[in-house]
Amino acid sequence: MKIKKRDVLKELYHDKVSVSEIRNFKDKIFEKPSTQSRIYDLLMFSKIEKGAWIHGAPWSILAKWRYEGWPQKCPVCNKKVVPEKFGWMVKKIEKEGYKLVHIDCLDKLRKTRNKATWHAKK
Ligand SMILES: [Zn+2]
Repeated sequence: MKIKKRDVLKELYHDKVSVSEIRNFKDKIFEKPSTQSRIYDLLMFSKIEKGAWIHGAPWSILAKWRYEGWPQKCPVCNKKVVPEKFGWMVKKIEKEGYKLVHIDCLDKLRKTRNKATWHAKK
């Protein structure tokens, strides 16, 4: 059966599909090399969405970011993050949820394992 592309994030945002249905769709794409190679096209992901998804952002977060706006600030250095320019990773920050963290800031994040330290700085 031919797999047709689906705007899964749009459907999810409008409650037209469940996350488990999207996972099934994704699994189906992964079944064949021919569709697997087109996965981001079939999921109708933008470049940024693709990047964030690879970094582990959940479907619901991607949908939220697409329609409500992407995080604009790095929680480590408090400076601007420009999603289109990449150089970030998706990180789940305690109490704040998913954020985009500069790659350069990840080391700092690792060093200050005591999260309270940089939480307090804001
Ligand atoms: Zn930063």
